[in-house]
Amino acid sequence: MNPRSAIQKPSVLTPLWALVDNDLRDRLPVKGGDEDAIEWPRLVPFFLLHLGCLGAIWTGVSWFAAAVCVVLYGLRMFAITAVYHRYLSHRSYDAPRWLVFVGAWTAAAAAQRGPLWWAAHHRRHHRHSDQEGDSHSPLNGRFWWSHVGWFTTRRNFRTDLEQLPDLRDRAELRWLDRFDVAAPLSLLAALYVLGEILAVNAPSLETSGWQLVVWGFCVSTTLVFHVTSMVNSVCHLFGARPWQTRDQSRNLPWLALLTFGEGWHNNHHYCPGSVRQGFRWWQFDLSFYILWTMERVGLVKLRPLPARARVAGARSA
Ligand SMILES: [Zn+2]
Ligand SMILES: [Zn+2]
Repeated sequence: MNPRSAIQKPSVLTPLWALVDNDLRDRLPVKGGDEDAIEWPRLVPFFLLHLGCLGAIWTGVSWFAAAVCVVLYGLRMFAITAVYHRYLSHRSYDAPRWLVFVGAWTAAAAAQRGPLWWAAHHRRHHRHSDQEGDSHSPLNGRFWWSHVGWFTTRRNFRTDLEQLPDLRDRAELRWLDRFDVAAPLSLLAALYVLGEILAVNAPSLETSGWQLVVWGFCVSTTLVFHVTSMVNSVCHLFGARPWQTRDQSRNLPWLALLTFGEGWHNNHHYCPGSVRQGFRWWQFDLSFYILWTMERVGLVKLRPLPARARVAGARSA
């Protein structure tokens, strides 16, 4: 969808609102008119997130904070792969809208922007994989661009709703996409409050508000981000290519462990509509196992595996 008309005369309060409202931010004039220039001010939260990890020097760590870090990594990684990727981007299973929203909120708490933004860019990636038009191909010496660069420009800050004819009318997803900062900020605040309550009421845990913010938010979110991003960067450069695809996607077992199955990326490019990305029994695909279990209890309905995935060895159970 074409961007809405740019705001030519911002009011005094516009920059403040633009901190939380992506629609408004995207309509502010681009400095120098260059859509491909890096928008540094918009990256401040990204840098703060990484710097926040250094806060561990002052807060120290407790087993409780480490556990919160791991649990929030797992929850949000699952939400990214199962909801942002396998549901919103590929519609490889059906789920009730309330569940999709809960999952999208959880994924958005990983600060990888909103659900429609994520899915639109991903669909575009599949349409143009490693060709002109792919926003984050690492080929031709663009490793760092594919890992942390591509999302820093106005062109890629926008959500291209034309990629999402099946989703763009869902008001709840439009809202979350517009105010995506709500999810990570509410998680951050909840962690601080929880830590302060525990510091007073359960001193034996030896935790605090700031310690949970550092480990539960900064460290955990940074890990989720870089591991997810490695699917774009590393997984198009290193690993096996059992299937001939028109891109350079690879299978990388250790990344599949960390990403709950996304590291079987060559399998995925070979058959993007398959909810199961680990085709063989030994190709560990945690997201699929969880979705399969969710189907058993009636929460979701997996779509039949495409013939291509079945011929490649994938089984639905
Ligand atoms: Zn890819
Ligand atoms: Zn995909």
